[in-house]
Amino acid sequence: MSLSLKFWGVRGSLPSSMSPHGWRSHFENVLRDFSAQNNKDSHAVTKFMQNQDLPCIGGYGTGTTCIEVNSLKTQLIIDGGTGIRALSEKIMSGTYVPVKGPFHIYMTHFHWDHVIGLPFFTPHFISGTQIHYYGVHKDLENLIKGVFKKPYFPVPYEQLASKIYFHVLEPRKPFKINDMTLTPYLLDHPDACWGVKVESQGKSYSHCVDTEGTRVSRDELGEDLPLYQNSDMMYFDAQYTFPELAEKANWGHSAAQIGLDLAFREGIKKVLFAHHDPGATTEQIKEIKRQTKEYYQWRVDHAHECKEEIFEVDWDFAYEGLEIKI
Ligand SMILES: [Zn+2]
Ligand SMILES: [Zn+2]
Repeated sequence: MSLSLKFWGVRGSLPSSMSPHGWRSHFENVLRDFSAQNNKDSHAVTKFMQNQDLPCIGGYGTGTTCIEVNSLKTQLIIDGGTGIRALSEKIMSGTYVPVKGPFHIYMTHFHWDHVIGLPFFTPHFISGTQIHYYGVHKDLENLIKGVFKKPYFPVPYEQLASKIYFHVLEPRKPFKINDMTLTPYLLDHPDACWGVKVESQGKSYSHCVDTEGTRVSRDELGEDLPLYQNSDMMYFDAQYTFPELAEKANWGHSAAQIGLDLAFREGIKKVLFAHHDPGATTEQIKEIKRQTKEYYQWRVDHAHECKEEIFEVDWDFAYEGLEIKI
């Protein structure tokens, strides 16, 4: 069996699109690539577009963290960043999952970019709908209620028509929702942020956003090490370039190189990098991707030179709307 994932929001800190000037220069680059291939025929446009990686044309998206994980019997939503609005619209179309749920939402932490979309999750307003919130924070209930507080949002929590339940999870203790097991582990972030390992039918997904990855060795990670070990897929914070990481110490975000090191050592098969900086243009994320490729190749070549064993890691940078099966 497998887990299927959909990435509804992959931007970090603040929803953000490139400016109109940014898009213009982006499309200038795209058109330059098109003409560099000596294309004269208008049919070549479609072919050219389809041959590009989707983010190279349409960017990485504006929505902040919201990830959907589906097992055979369970749909889990991780965090309620602005990406949850598009998921809500899909649900309300009536062609996706039962409109009245039950919905299961795991909250890693309560920074704005992870909660700001929650009031736009329409099932909250539908009578007969069940919504279950999960999180390690002891005051989970008040933290969610606070998101709907006037004057930040016009409809107070008490007027929501749905039935809402709160489940405070124990750190590092597995919790079962139908055929899915969630185990929360601590990440490295200001204000506690609890990553989660989601397991079902022999497959595992490790959600590691937001994290700085300051604890790297097995000793340092200690009881949080199982979050990373032998995961089929890790979603990892790569907001910064490697040099920026030193400048932005204690800001709570990481770089792709840190995630790759963890993946090589802990046998993680696939890594998706995300929490893209709100200021990062498509070209800048492509450049971070190029630097990551260089680092990956250096690690592989170095291992071969030293005759050390190294496992291949399949990795990429997440974009809004991406769907993956593991
Ligand atoms: Zn964040
Ligand atoms: Zn955060």
